[in-house]
Amino acid sequence: MGQASLGREELVALDKQHVWHPYTPMGRYVAEADPLVVQSASGCWLEDVDGRRYLDGNASWWVSVLGHNHPRLVRALREQAERMCHVSLAQVTHEPAARLAQELVARAPSGLSRVFYSDNGSTAVEVAIKICLQYWQQVGYPRKRRFIALSDAFHGETLGVTALGGVEVFRRPFASALMECLHVSPQRGGYEQAFAALEAELRGAADSIAGVVVEPLLQGAGGMRVYPAEYLRALREWTRRSHVFLVVDEVFTGYGRTGTFWACEQAAISPDLMCIGKGFSGGILPMAATLATESVFDGFLGADERALFYGHTYCGHPLGAAVAREVLRIYEEEAIVERSQPKAEMIAAAVERWCQLPGVSEGRSLGMMGAVRVGAGHGYLARAGWRVTAAARRRGAYIRPLGDVVYVTPPINIPDPELEQLLGIVEESLREELVG
Ligand SMILES: *Cc1c(COP(=O)(O)O)cnc(C)c1O
Repeated sequence: MGQASLGREELVALDKQHVWHPYTPMGRYVAEADPLVVQSASGCWLEDVDGRRYLDGNASWWVSVLGHNHPRLVRALREQAERMCHVSLAQVTHEPAARLAQELVARAPSGLSRVFYSDNGSTAVEVAIKICLQYWQQVGYPRKRRFIALSDAFHGETLGVTALGGVEVFRRPFASALMECLHVSPQRGGYEQAFAALEAELRGAADSIAGVVVEPLLQGAGGMRVYPAEYLRALREWTRRSHVFLVVDEVFTGYGRTGTFWACEQAAISPDLMCIGKGFSGGILPMAATLATESVFDGFLGADERALFYGHTYCGHPLGAAVAREVLRIYEEEAIVERSQPKAEMIAAAVERWCQLPGVSEGRSLGMMGAVRVGAGHGYLARAGWRVTAAARRRGAYIRPLGDVVYVTPPINIPDPELEQLLGIVEESLREELVG
């Protein structure tokens, strides 16, 4: 028997009574927040329970790369669900997982030939760091157990990857429980200077380092920071020379966010390990993977105890895998990345215009991401960004700030008129909140 739907007020009341929201100061939320109550989503639009529509300028935390409820993805999901929703990958395999692995390897930077499935971006990176640590122990370098990550890095939420994170407010509560990680800045002066500083710091230390973990070219949650492809290429050369693994976290940057299918392509590099998530399953299901080279994989062969004793209940989930295969087909058949080029130019031009406004600075754009800093700059806990996003919502767009950074990360295939509308709304909102 169906239940009558609740209205907006009742839903918000229930929510405020019971739901603990992610990345949310809950006292303020319960006292003041007026959350969007979404009841359906289609393409780049969200619709609330009162029938108001909002452009999703955030692609729902960056996952809805092909827009919401893409009919082909919904069909792939339904067809797979009718056959089989889930079986484990424990001495079992199935067509969606096996064929997706093959298709991913074909799409991935060269040399990556093995796919380890998991169910979210954090665990994709967690798997990569465990692989690094165990590998070096098994090949006779047990001292290699430290990691290097970038300042302002974000790699997810598990305790392991929290150590790699460079955003101080996120790591501070756990600082005493984190493994050792050295943070280096990719943006100190030019990339050559930044890289020279890194090399100087690491001279002679490679025998204690298991891996360098980076978000390639674009650091997302740390504030939409862009750094040059040359830096990534220099890191690849240094890690190769120094027998240190390079782990590239493409959870956010993959699937065309930066203007190429993988951000790695712009530096023409192949990592030892690559992590994918978010757009991987088109925003339909939690699905992630860690790709590894054959030589990394070989480090786990031999005696049984050398195996990677790791796995999540929903590894290789058939529904997620079926959808992820369809995502790859759509990218191919609809030339999603190629067709995003003029859209990326629209975003870049808008960011330049926004930077002319008083109170707006540090504009940057890369592919389907555009960002600016607003207000006097108080980092992640600043409020100015929230005022701008509230103004955008009144005008019919959903965006979310990273503290004082206001950004757009729409679906990669957002139609031009909607993109223009979104960029216009952001501009008016910046004007309203900052110029007055
Ligand atoms: C979001 C994100 C993660 C974490 O992914 P979850 O699915 O939220 O666990 C990891 N790395 C990067 C670069 C991300 O943007």
